[in-house]
Amino acid sequence: MSDENQTVAIVTGAGRGIGAATAHRLSADGLAVAVVDLDEPAARDTAGQVIAAGGRALAVGADVTDAGAVSAATDRVAAELGPPTVLVNNAGVLRDNLLFKMTEDDWDTVLRVHLRGAFLFSRAAQAHMVEAGWGRIVNLSSRSAQGNRGQANYAAAKAGLQGLTKTLAIELGPFGITANAVAPGFIVTEMTRATAQRVGADFEQFQARIAEQTPVRRVGRPEDVAHTVSYLVSEGASFVTGQVIYVAGGPCD
Ligand code: NAP
Repeated sequence: MSDENQTVAIVTGAGRGIGAATAHRLSADGLAVAVVDLDEPAARDTAGQVIAAGGRALAVGADVTDAGAVSAATDRVAAELGPPTVLVNNAGVLRDNLLFKMTEDDWDTVLRVHLRGAFLFSRAAQAHMVEAGWGRIVNLSSRSAQGNRGQANYAAAKAGLQGLTKTLAIELGPFGITANAVAPGFIVTEMTRATAQRVGADFEQFQARIAEQTPVRRVGRPEDVAHTVSYLVSEGASFVTGQVIYVAGGPCD
């Protein structure tokens, strides 16, 4: 059931990790949240937890790379929660490999999920934002956008998201819509656990090593990113657009 006074957010890849933490945080901020994930049971888990905590949420199973699924998901959110005027493009995958070993599928998969996914959801959701004369888009970039060994595909996608973000800010600004990117450093999630596993490292030791090299001497948590998203989505951030905010425990250019 829709509630006309409540802002509705779509968070992609919110079945776990940073997306799930963002869904919880936006709900705590008073927004209704559509929890979109490829893994529908995971989306249901997150949505169930948001509802159990007193929020409004809808679980939607969708592949962000599928234009039909994105369009259907956006329509469903509008019908069941209300018009989505906040979008967090968070869904992501890794297919790390050194260039000489990187397959075309590794390249295409990563570019499709991060870039095509963000393009499709932004295009679908902006219609509701333009109609409302208000909106917020937050794209998950990464410190890897600056280049990272073994991540030619991921670095290209995350740098591409920064270009997409700035362009959305220019095109959509006149309609009261801001677009910003959050670029995390190392955040403890299943994604970084898988990275540790891939290089044969114990996850706890891997984290300790990263923490030592990080100015604030700790690794990041999903809540660190969710907090920044919460700020960018807030009314008070209406003059902040086209920016890339690094959430990395230290300076990044
Ligand atoms: P995660 O734990 O792996 O979660 C990513 C979520 O996205 C998963 O639930 C995954 O579902 C979903 N997803 C993947 N492909 C999808 C698709 N085609 N359609 C819909 N959902 C899809 O990752 P995370 O660490 O929370 O990362 C979230 C975002 O932050 C990503 O964009 C990532 O690149 C970015 N980021 C993370 C870090 C970090 O250190 N963790 C640093 C910088 C940036 P499945 O389980 O079904 O695959």
